[in-house]
Amino acid sequence: MKKDIHPNYKQIKTVCTSCNTEHVFGSTAEKVNLDVCSNCHAFYTGDRSTVKARGRVERFNKILEKSKKTN
Ligand SMILES: [Zn+2]
Repeated sequence: MKKDIHPNYKQIKTVCTSCNTEHVFGSTAEKVNLDVCSNCHAFYTGDRSTVKARGRVERFNKILEKSKKTN
């Protein structure tokens, strides 16, 4: 590999915001945000009726509702 052109690959820790599970993996990024992970996503849990994961869409809709009320 050429010197000084590759980002530093290292082990980083992040916590899933939905289920608070800690994940450690290799990445070149400083920080990674997790909304949903393999521990809590409905695809892996097999839970088809309720999606426990609260993602960005839900957050966006809440903000949208709030803004409607104030207007
Ligand atoms: Zn999770």
